Amino acid sequence: MSWIVFTDLDGSLLDEADYSFEAARPALAALRERGIPLVLITSKTHAEVALLAGEIGTSVPYVVENGGAIYIPPGNPEIEGGGALADGTRRIALGRPQSELRAFLVAARERWPLRGFGDMDAAEVAALCDFSVEAAVLAKEREFSEPFRIDDPAGLEGLAAAARAEGLDVTRGGRFHHLIAAGQSKAVALRVLVEAYARSRDALRSIAVGDSPNDRAMLEAADVAVVIPRPDGTHLELGSGAHDVIVAPHPGAAGWNAALIRLLESA
Ligand SMILES: [Mg+2]
Repeated sequence: MSWIVFTDLDGSLLDEADYSFEAARPALAALRERGIPLVLITSKTHAEVALLAGEIGTSVPYVVENGGAIYIPPGNPEIEGGGALADGTRRIALGRPQSELRAFLVAARERWPLRGFGDMDAAEVAALCDFSVEAAVLAKEREFSEPFRIDDPAGLEGLAAAARAEGLDVTRGGRFHHLIAAGQSKAVALRVLVEAYARSRDALRSIAVGDSPNDRAMLEAADVAVVIPRPDGTHLELGSGAHDVIVAPHPGAAGWNAALIRLLESA
């Protein structure tokens, strides 16, 4: 049997407050030793994830902007297709272009006052996300999704309905709502990658790790779901599927580490 791990970043592999993955280093090393691909699958942008993938030490494909695109670094022949970029990385686009998302939000905010990343400068994004202005510049490089905050949450349902009428959708991450293409999800990207890896690996089993509503479909699409609890101890409830669900014993990177180590030991 072979494994593939898909992980959300914020609140899952990365601690919610300080974005550290320090506590997950033992499990990350164990995955590397066993040659298990670790796919980062997040609402973050390509600019952000390219940097993080290097720090985390994974060189397999990663999924950005809530399933908006799969980026394939050089040296991943199992995954075919995708347009080649200047550095040899390939990109399979699954979402709708940012210009269409912005056009919708600019029209929608007349009725539902809201602010998207495109309306904020890097300093404002940095303050809302508790990270540096340099990190915020990378977070603003959106291609397939627009994070936003709505002034009156009661308007969210109407806004989501208007989005669906335009072939778009609204999903919720840890800190923001995100405008995306209808049907765009981490689960779709997971299925594309599982199918590709399954061609060259025997009895492939997928593990997905996440903490938020935008992880739900991905967690339910994987063979094993690892739910990371929030710092207050509550956690995302999954539907009663046929697959295994594990709730990590701690929030953030420490919970990620404990759950993955336990899974690897039982494999
Ligand atoms: Mg998260």
